[in-house]
Amino acid sequence: MLRQKAFGDVVEDMASNGKPIHIDDAINGLKKLLSEKEDLQTVAVAKIKQLTAELEGVDAGEFNAVERIHDGFARFKKEKYETNPTLYGELAKGQSPKFLVFACADSRVCPSHILDFQPGEAFVVRNIANMVPPYDTIKHSGAGAAIEYAVLYLKVENIVVIGHSCCGGIKGLMSIPDDGTEASDFIEQWVKIGLAAKSKVKADCSDLEYSDLCTKCEKEAVNVSLGNLLTYPFVREAVVNKKLSLKGGHYDFVNGSFDLWNLDFGFSSSLI
Ligand SMILES: [Zn+2]
Repeated sequence: MLRQKAFGDVVEDMASNGKPIHIDDAINGLKKLLSEKEDLQTVAVAKIKQLTAELEGVDAGEFNAVERIHDGFARFKKEKYETNPTLYGELAKGQSPKFLVFACADSRVCPSHILDFQPGEAFVVRNIANMVPPYDTIKHSGAGAAIEYAVLYLKVENIVVIGHSCCGGIKGLMSIPDDGTEASDFIEQWVKIGLAAKSKVKADCSDLEYSDLCTKCEKEAVNVSLGNLLTYPFVREAVVNKKLSLKGGHYDFVNGSFDLWNLDFGFSSSLI
C-alpha cells in the first residue's frame, strides 16, 4: 500500500504537469521522496529500493511500452505533424477520404504503410483475415457501421479489400475440420465468413499443396468479401450509379508484390 501510494504520487505529479512519464523521472522522484520523508525510512526503504531497482532494470533493456509509445509519437510530431501544418490544418476541419479499405489486422500489412496513404486518404477497417461480412444489422454490425458511414457520409469513391500472404486467419479458415468442430470462442466463427472461398478453392484446386491452397484462398476470400459488399443496399446503389468502385487486392510481403483487380461480379438483374 505504501509502495503503491509513493509511486502513485510520483506518477500523478508528473501526469498533472502534463509531462510524459519517464523512467528516469520516476526513479528520481522515488529517490527524492525517500530523502524527504524520514519517517518512511524504516518501513518503506526496502520496498522503494526494490521498486527503484525494478525500474532501473526496465530501463536497462527490457521492452517498455510507455517509452515506445512516447518516443514514437514524439518522432511523428517532430518529423511529420510539425513539418506539415497545411495538411494537418485541413484535417482539423474534417476528412474526405477517397478510400474505404478493409485489411487484415496482421501487424505486417498496415495499408497506410504499404500503400503510402497519408492521413485523411483512407478510412480503414482492420480485422482478422480482412473479411467483409454480409449485410446483417445484428451480427458483425461493427463492419456494417463502418461501411455505412464511409459510403453514405464520407462518400468514399473506392472500397478496397486487401488480402495478404501468410495470412493466419485464412490458414485458420482452411484448417476448420469438415465436421465443423470449433476450437476457439470467436476466430473460427469470424473467418467462416469466407467459407465459400474455401469451398471453391478446395473444389477447383484439389491437387495443390496446403500452402498454395491457402494463397488461393487469400485471394478468393477477397472476392467473397467484394460480393458481400453488394449485399449492403447503399453500396449496391452507389456502385450502380457509378459513384463507387469495388476493388480487390493482395499484398505478398514474401515477394514484395501487390496485385489489384476489379471483380467481375456477373451481376444478375435480381441482385441490382
Ligand atoms: Zn491476415
